[in-house]
Amino acid sequence: MKGAAFWEPLEGGKVKCTLCPRECVVAPGRRGFCRVRVNREGSLYAAGYGETVSLAMDPMEKKPLYHFYPGSYILSLGCNGCNLACLFCQNWQISQSDVPTTRVSPQELVDLALRHRSVGLCFTYSEPLIWFEYILDVAPLARSRELKIVLVTNGVINPRPLEELLPWVDAMNVDLKSMRPEFYRKLSLGPFRDAVLHTIEEAHKAGVWVEVTNLVIPGHNDSREELEELVDWVAGLSPSLPLHFSRFFPHYRLKEAPPTPIETLAWAWEMAREKLEFVYVGNVWNPQWSTTYCPGCGKALIVREGYSHPQIYLQDGACPSCGKSIPLVM
Ligand code: SF4
Repeated sequence: MKGAAFWEPLEGGKVKCTLCPRECVVAPGRRGFCRVRVNREGSLYAAGYGETVSLAMDPMEKKPLYHFYPGSYILSLGCNGCNLACLFCQNWQISQSDVPTTRVSPQELVDLALRHRSVGLCFTYSEPLIWFEYILDVAPLARSRELKIVLVTNGVINPRPLEELLPWVDAMNVDLKSMRPEFYRKLSLGPFRDAVLHTIEEAHKAGVWVEVTNLVIPGHNDSREELEELVDWVAGLSPSLPLHFSRFFPHYRLKEAPPTPIETLAWAWEMAREKLEFVYVGNVWNPQWSTTYCPGCGKALIVREGYSHPQIYLQDGACPSCGKSIPLVM
């Protein structure tokens, strides 16, 4: 079994995992909160290493990443486990329970991506940060074959492992669930908002292509004040950082909240566009809200109807109408 990175021995054969800010103290024979890091005789192991629960070629737009190789497909995979336990988790079957896995070695994964002409590898579905050791073994092999590394993540990781990981990551979609630490504590069972903000800031600073997603949940994080605070924070980082609002539907252990009203999303989209150049709304059918507009002249540059086959009107990465260069990777 692969030895885990980032842990300290404690008395009595216990260990402290320092990969994420939960910093679990794990007794011999037990697993950490995320269920994939185990204490075997006083050492911590990455029990989920390469253990894959799903593997699919997905449109990049489904991540969602709208400014990173638009229109491409990427080999996507996930593992069991998560270091949060969100009451509204969309993938709770794998994040909060264990389903059968298939072991895929780093070389097998890279070969599979090349065979399918994938633009890269996307670690997603549950929480990729708890797959730290596996991603760091895959990344050099992938990069040597010009495959991109993409993470769709909750952003909950400690600063030191993040620093080690970022040079290997090309793009990230980070879920910023709320600007309120108490939201994280109550609905995600971990008061880790600051870690998420730090991850977004550091990734952006390191030159990783970053997009942010916010699931708007009625009665929990949908006040105008909080949504404005979130938009101000993203705009403070960069007005051209893409922000995706996402429509909530009752799910898993959060069934009492209604679906996000369309009016709330419409207001959020309008409000955010006053401060950010690229704002989108997902989980709802409205091409207006998934189109990339030129921040210079307003021309529709990438029109998306669903996840696949966006119509791209850019010329050499710029608006064909006014010539403004559009921040995206392609
Ligand atoms: S990565 Fe897992 S075991 Fe380690 S501190 Fe976080 S939740 Fe606990």
